Amino acid sequence: MLKNDMLETWDRENFFHPSTHLAEFARGNLPNRVVTGGSGCHIEDREGNRLLDAFAGLYCVNVGYGRQEIAEAIAKQAKELAYYHSYVGHGTEASITLAKMILDRAPEHMSKVYFGLSGSDANETNIKLVWYYNNILGRPEKKKIISRWRGYHGSGLMTGSLTGLELFHKKFDLPLSQVIHTEAPYYYRRPDLSMSEADFTAHCAAELEALIEEEGADTIAAFIGEPALGTGGLVPPPAGYWEAIQKVLDKHDILLIADEVVTGFGRLGTMFGSEHYGLKPDLITIAKGLTSAYAPLSGSIVSEKMWTVLEQGTDENGPIGHGWTYSAHPIGAAAGVANLKLIDDLGMVANAGKVGGYLKRALEDAVGGHAHVGEVRGEGLLCAVEMVKDRDTRTFFDASEKVGPSVAAALLKEGVIARAMPQGDIIGFAPPFCLTEAEADEVAGKMAKAVAAVLG
Ligand code: PLP
Repeated sequence: MLKNDMLETWDRENFFHPSTHLAEFARGNLPNRVVTGGSGCHIEDREGNRLLDAFAGLYCVNVGYGRQEIAEAIAKQAKELAYYHSYVGHGTEASITLAKMILDRAPEHMSKVYFGLSGSDANETNIKLVWYYNNILGRPEKKKIISRWRGYHGSGLMTGSLTGLELFHKKFDLPLSQVIHTEAPYYYRRPDLSMSEADFTAHCAAELEALIEEEGADTIAAFIGEPALGTGGLVPPPAGYWEAIQKVLDKHDILLIADEVVTGFGRLGTMFGSEHYGLKPDLITIAKGLTSAYAPLSGSIVSEKMWTVLEQGTDENGPIGHGWTYSAHPIGAAAGVANLKLIDDLGMVANAGKVGGYLKRALEDAVGGHAHVGEVRGEGLLCAVEMVKDRDTRTFFDASEKVGPSVAAALLKEGVIARAMPQGDIIGFAPPFCLTEAEADEVAGKMAKAVAAVLG
C-alpha cells in the first residue's frame, strides 16, 4: 500500500508525461492515476480500482500482468549479471538464446537479429541499415522511404516522420525530406464508396506506383508498413493488399520493412503478421510482444539478402558504426526468453486467434447495430469500433465533439480500459492474450453501455 500522499503533487510538479496535454495536466484538469499492481487482464490503482485492461497497456503486455515466470527470470539475471554490453562479439546466454528463439519463429528467409530497446529505435536502426545497404551496393541516390498515412512507426525524428499521423508532425518540423507517404489501406474510409475491396486494393497499388514514378524508382529505398494498421485506427488491410503492394515493390527493387511491433509474437493469432498476410519482408521490426513489456527490448530482424550485403560492407569499411549501450541488455533478453517460452507453453498464439474472433463477434452483437456505429472490425486480438454521425452517408463526427474520447471515458467508468485512437472516433481493443470469453463478453457489454451513455 502506498503511503505517500504527496504523489499527486509531485507528479504534477515534476513528471513530463508522454502523449499528454501538458498544460491541462499541470493545471490539475486531467486526472492522474498511480498504478500499483496487475494480474491477468486486470490492473489496480492506489484508489483501489480494479480495471479490465482491454488494451494490454499499450498493446504490449501480451501474456498478461503478474507472470511470476518472467519476474523470476529477470531477478535471476539481475543477480547473476545485470549488465554487460554486446559490442565486438560479447553476449550473454540470454541474448544468444533469444536471438535463436526469434529466428526459429520468424519467416525462413530471415537471418540475424539486432537488439534495441524500443520500437522507435528499432525502426531508426532499420532505416540506417537500408541506407548502408544501398551505399554498399553503389546506389547512393536510392534513399527515400515510403510510409503510409495513418501508419505508426515511432516518435523519433526519422520514425516520427515515418508515422503518418498529423499530431506527430505538427510543430516538430516533420516529416523529414527523405520520407514520403502514400494511401492508407483503410477500406472503410475509401475515397469512393462505390469501390469494392478489390477496387480499393488496386487503387492503393496504383497510388503507390504513381508516387514511385513521380519520385523516380532509383531514389526510393524502402517501403515500411504494419501488416495491419495499429495506432492509425486498428485496420486490417483490404483483401489482396499485400500481394498487390509487394508486386509493385519488387518491380522497382524497393525493400520492404514489416513493422511488427504490435503484430509480432501472436496478436493476429499467428506468430507474425508477415505469415498471416503473406509478406516477404527484408527487415522486421519487433518490440512490445518480445518481452510482453516486462523489460524494454526491441529488435530488427534482418533477411539473408540484406545480411550478405552488410557483411560485404564491413569487409570493405570495417566494423559497422551502429550500436547502443543497452543493445541486447541481459535483463531484457532474460525477460524475452521467459516470455516466448510462456507464450508457447500456454498456447497463447492460438488463444489470441480464437478469443479475438469471439471478441469481435461479441462487439458486433453488442454495438454493431447502433445508429452511430459505422464499423466493427478486427483481426485476432486487434479490434476496433468506429463511430460516425451517419452510418448510411458515412459522415464523420467533427473532431471537436470528442466522441471517441467520451466513449472511452464512459467505458472507463464501467471499469474497462480501451483506447480512443487518434484521428477519428475509434475505440481500440487489444487485450492480453489470456483474455477469456467471459472477459470478452464483459468488454462488449460495457462497451454497449458506454456507447449508449454518449450517443443514446
Ligand atoms: N511501431 C509500431 C507499429 C508501434 O505500434 C509502435 C508503438 O506503439 C512503435 C513502432 C514505436 O514503439 P516504441 O513506442 O516502443 O518506440
